[in-house]
Amino acid sequence: MVIMPIDVPELVEQVLAGSRQHIAKALTLVESSKPAHRENAREMLRQLAPHTGDAIRVGISGVPGAGKSTFINAVGGKLIDDFDYKVAVLAVDPSSTRTGGSILGDRTRMGDLANRDKAFVRPSPSGGHLGGVARATREAMIVMEAAGYNVVLVETVGVGQSEVAVAGMVDTFLMLSVAGTGDQLQGIKKGILELADVVAVNKADGDNAGNARVSARDLSIAMKLVSSDADKRRVPVLTCSSYTKEGLDDVWQAIVDHRAYLEKDGSLRVRRTEQQREWLWNMVRNEILESLDTDPSVQQTAARIEAGLGIEATSALEGAEEILRAFARAVPNLPWA
Ligand code: GDP
Repeated sequence: MVIMPIDVPELVEQVLAGSRQHIAKALTLVESSKPAHRENAREMLRQLAPHTGDAIRVGISGVPGAGKSTFINAVGGKLIDDFDYKVAVLAVDPSSTRTGGSILGDRTRMGDLANRDKAFVRPSPSGGHLGGVARATREAMIVMEAAGYNVVLVETVGVGQSEVAVAGMVDTFLMLSVAGTGDQLQGIKKGILELADVVAVNKADGDNAGNARVSARDLSIAMKLVSSDADKRRVPVLTCSSYTKEGLDDVWQAIVDHRAYLEKDGSLRVRRTEQQREWLWNMVRNEILESLDTDPSVQQTAARIEAGLGIEATSALEGAEEILRAFARAVPNLPWA
């Protein structure tokens, strides 16, 4: 993707003014891994950062089909109508490509919300490894907060490491479940429930309402089991329906309550500081890996060594040393050096 020469001060000014066109440009910039773009992105983020920090940051996870898009569409609409909030929707889905497959945060799946002036829906940055996708989403949060969005919802799939990455960038993590899919047990197995600050059993409507209540009760018991810390706050398990909108207010209230709970005893600051520390190291590691993967001289050496690899273990050992030496020689010329 080509981004024309970037006037960073102008971009910053327009993002702060809330210009949708410039927000989109800023998001494209943070999604790029090209060295020149990274430099511009860092400068932009440095200038935007002082204007962030007040938004309510919420992660939303659940297995495909749990109803995440429908829920975000309904809740986002309510937040705009009831509180006059500006709502941003971002996503972390490393498997996504913009041309097909499951695309979280897809504008078409959240049509109502995406069409509203006070909402901004951005699909997951496509492809690549989780670290890169998570970095772009994290930086996108800064852009959205600086642009005056009061709530940032970060959607992710209900499996594995993406959840951990999202939990590392939000204040409150909401897990959406559905009755009768057995995903509550999968959740426990994968440790996802452990990350949850609020749990909601979705699709509690029609014939399904009773099942949803039973499922919420079971999950509530399960939540007590996964919580190893006796003093830990009890995680609320609620039911809701994005169709009838019943329970949506309560789920949002639980999110707001959780945030107030964090603010009361100072743990919001601790949590965000810890997140900053993790982010710091992620960025250092990412930059090093990125350079290793893209520097032409390192890649040339690596290609030669890979082509000549034999079956003896020592050749890998020697090859690794040679690649590292090539990397060391390249370091002084790297953009971050
Ligand atoms: P996602 O994959 O988690 O984003 O799930 P979707 O939002 O795409 O929803 C999956 C399916 O569940 C769709 O057919 C929705 O219409 C349906 N659905 C979503 N929310 C509800 C709800 O509250 N009640 C009922 N009955 N169906 C729902």
